[in-house]
Amino acid sequence: MAKLEVIEGDITVLAVDAIVNAANSGLLGGGGVDGAIHRAAGPALLEECRRVAAARQNVPGGPCPAGDAVITGPGLLPCKQVIHTVGPVWHGGGRGESGLLASCYRKSLLLAEKAALESIAFPNISTGVYGYPRDKAAGTAVTAVRETLEQTPGIRRVIFVCFDRENYELYRRILPA
Ligand code: ADP
Repeated sequence: MAKLEVIEGDITVLAVDAIVNAANSGLLGGGGVDGAIHRAAGPALLEECRRVAAARQNVPGGPCPAGDAVITGPGLLPCKQVIHTVGPVWHGGGRGESGLLASCYRKSLLLAEKAALESIAFPNISTGVYGYPRDKAAGTAVTAVRETLEQTPGIRRVIFVCFDRENYELYRRILPA
């Protein structure tokens, strides 16, 4: 079973196999962690995202609908690949948000497994601008990751990267050091 780790900090500096971006469905960059990743990765990442988005123009709700994920190279980032997943916008919990959020973690891990990546770092998807309550998101994230890891034997390390104190403390409670 892979090791689950929690750190507080900036996901863009991690030299892991994959970092996950909390993207938006257009895949062309945005604010929050998406903006930070594109700033650090430089124009090559945006160029590749444009190509991926163009190839997925016909995907309903796309190019990348909530709950789905795509993989690209890293641009100038120190990781090997970037997995872009689109979290759900929080509407109160009655619009399938938890299933969509779980799907982000599951599909990201499955893409990493397929690409033979062994270590993957996740931000706290949907808990920024998309307004998902942090405590609910953390529980869903950890459960989805634990369940999926049973199908992804190649993944050895999963790192939850918390950018704010509240998320860090929540994850620490769920995954004590
Ligand atoms: P979403 O639209 O999915 O809510 P955001 O980027 O607004 O995406 O926020 C997702 C999470 O990413 C938030 O918890 C935010 O604090 C965090 N975040 C923002 N910048 C970074 C960064 N450089 N590294 C890691 N996490 C970050």
